[in-house]
Amino acid sequence: MNILVLNSGSSSQKAAVYCIEKPPGDDPQEPVWQGRIEWDGTLRRDRAQIEVSNLRGARVNNRVEAESRKQATSQLLASIWSGAAAVLRSPEEIAIAGHRVVNGGREFRESAIITPAVKGAIERMAALAPLHNRAELDGIETLELKCGNLPQVAVFDTAFHSRMPDAAAIYPGPYEWTEQGIRRFGFHGINHQYCTQRAARMLRRELARLRMITCHLGNGCSLAAIRDGHSIDTTMGFTPLEGLMMGTRSGSVDPGILTHLMRRANLSGEQIDELLNHQSGLLGISGVSGDMREIVAAMKQGHARAKLAFDIFVHRLKAGIGAMAAALGGVDALIFSAGIGENSPEVRAATCAALEFLDVKLDAKKNENPILDADVSAGGARVRVLVIRAQEDWAIARECWRLAPAKARSERRSSESYGKN
Ligand code: AMP
Repeated sequence: MNILVLNSGSSSQKAAVYCIEKPPGDDPQEPVWQGRIEWDGTLRRDRAQIEVSNLRGARVNNRVEAESRKQATSQLLASIWSGAAAVLRSPEEIAIAGHRVVNGGREFRESAIITPAVKGAIERMAALAPLHNRAELDGIETLELKCGNLPQVAVFDTAFHSRMPDAAAIYPGPYEWTEQGIRRFGFHGINHQYCTQRAARMLRRELARLRMITCHLGNGCSLAAIRDGHSIDTTMGFTPLEGLMMGTRSGSVDPGILTHLMRRANLSGEQIDELLNHQSGLLGISGVSGDMREIVAAMKQGHARAKLAFDIFVHRLKAGIGAMAAALGGVDALIFSAGIGENSPEVRAATCAALEFLDVKLDAKKNENPILDADVSAGGARVRVLVIRAQEDWAIARECWRLAPAKARSERRSSESYGKN
């Protein structure tokens, strides 16, 4: 069964095709095709670039000639069945498509087959996640136009956190906030959940008996506290701005600063939004970059503000892990994932050095260059430290397989064309 996965970001559009022959197991599978469009910040025609590659090693790199996001996505998808990196003969060979949907609010606790009602709910939630949910709806509608009655599945980044206890999910503002739907949703749930399942398998332990802290540290960063396979607390909240320090996002700051800026500097909501989302975090403090690679490189050359940015990042990460450990009442495994979590031995080492009181201890050599997925903890330490590659697209493809109507499996042609193009 050929499964198309669309992952729509605010300034990127990724897509992948998986060819799944039998019920997928726990081990991740490589996509047979992947592509992405990068908009370099804004949806500008002259800045957009399409990159496509397939499992046979073919690569294509093109400028996008499109006026809108939908048109650009359409071009990206066309390269699945035409051009040098094509892997299918036609859109008809796709059996089902899955979308990462950032905000499913309280309505979605599970992935859902997309119907007009589900689309309506995603549209309503767009008021809370305008940069994302609108892009995801564009992806859904592009496929409706291109592939007719193709079954489509929405996989929500919020779903894994949707059973968080009220004490963790409700803000201590006026109770009316809760009645208006203002509460902590949490994000990155697709990867937090995937890492949890993967970790249980790596440790050969039952998920239902593990207390885990997953650290998703990429451009956006969040932690989740997972007990018995359920998220019971997380650091992101009503929006993906709460919690840890990130590349260009501040994470949590005293809300009094915002009212101060509104009163004293007369800043508008949009200006504050811009400051907190795009001019803060590693970039805001260092003045160098929002990319941890550049922060570490500058720090090693003695750049004082890059070092400060690194230190704040790690300080907040340690504090967050401590809070998650307290919510869990103990920890069995600490998991690092996503761009920084997977690739920065410096961040893992600095964080774990402070957690020895929890019986976290790294093996310095294994931590330096782990072959993923890996256990990098020292032999005698009770808490296992794992580094797990984020596999959001694969997790979405598995959800598509699980939810695919039997009709989709039998009617649409299987992957026999792959390899013949
Ligand atoms: P993601 O959102 O998961 O794609 O992660 C992107 C972020 O990962 C980048 O902004 C970098 O800060 C970080 N990253 C990627 N590679 C490395 C590396 N080798 N060392 C440190 N950080 C890295």
